[in-house]
Amino acid sequence: MMREQNTRVNLKNLSLAELESFVLSLGEKPFRAEQLARWLYVRRARTFGEMTDLAKKFRQKLEESAWISFLENLEVKVSPDRTRKYRFLLADGETIESVLLPEKDHFTLCLSTQAGCALGCKFCLTGSRGLARNLSSAEIIDQVIGVQATLSPEEKLTNLVLMGMGEPLNNFQNVMRALEIIRSPRGLQFSHRRVTLSTAGIIPEMEELCSRRHFVKLAISLNASTHGQRSQLMPINRKYPLKDLLAACRRIPLAHREKITFEYVLIRGVNDSEEDAHRLAQLLQGIQAKVNLLPFNEHPQSPFKRPDDDALQKFRAVLMAHRFTTMVRLSKGADIMAACGQLGGKYPELGG
Ligand code: SF4
Repeated sequence: MMREQNTRVNLKNLSLAELESFVLSLGEKPFRAEQLARWLYVRRARTFGEMTDLAKKFRQKLEESAWISFLENLEVKVSPDRTRKYRFLLADGETIESVLLPEKDHFTLCLSTQAGCALGCKFCLTGSRGLARNLSSAEIIDQVIGVQATLSPEEKLTNLVLMGMGEPLNNFQNVMRALEIIRSPRGLQFSHRRVTLSTAGIIPEMEELCSRRHFVKLAISLNASTHGQRSQLMPINRKYPLKDLLAACRRIPLAHREKITFEYVLIRGVNDSEEDAHRLAQLLQGIQAKVNLLPFNEHPQSPFKRPDDDALQKFRAVLMAHRFTTMVRLSKGADIMAACGQLGGKYPELGG
């Protein structure tokens, strides 16, 4: 089965332009590509047999030259706060996780872009496992389709964050192709305002992403107030230093109310002092920024501790005094290891 699939094209790995070229290569008219996209992304067909408005001959050609992927859902864990963690099996036996976060009247889905991660951030369980491989665009798209298939009609998935396992900008081409499908009216139809890509700060790709205006919203995983502190916590800072990263953020053309989100994992005694908060406020001066503070989620594999509430509130107050919108993101799903920085922890087969 696998070998046969490898010689055929997985249609969900094609951009919409590539899908059209593929259809043309089969001797069909361009509008057939639109029909096919609708079957794949709107009606979510799993077989060509379901595509009843396509001519039988065309469907036969598709059977011979293409296939439609979907992810096997191995497990869904539900936390008392209603967070759901999905574990999906990939065709080569790797597993990835996607986390569905309940909000007031909608859901946000946190997607993985790599199996594991090479960046080794010290507070992150995924990073401690190393990188197994990049995900294909189909594997990114199929997380959305796989999770949506489990929702009831009242449960609305409206927001996506590329913040799960992996550094999205280290898998740039596949992530861009997946985002095109995710956003397109001929694809999964998510508004660009409701899709956020979070990066540890891969500057060249970040600039490339932001040159495509209104593409998606940007979040930066910052986590430190000095160069030395950030290099300790996030080795990538040695390659793309804090000051260069912030200079690049200042160059991003933003609309009037548009903001870059800066995520800051607060770790007791490491980066949670009031001095850190003041330094952070100085670093962000002149950037249309908002800050998400994430108290560290303690887990057995890490010596780091969660900050106490007093430190958290003082840190927040300093940023607010500098007029930065500052949210404290309380860890959803921490009891099922679905919270930020905890993905991949239960599955040692993820490499590293
Ligand atoms: S925090 Fe993100 S970039 Fe850093 S190791 Fe974890 S998954 Fe990779």
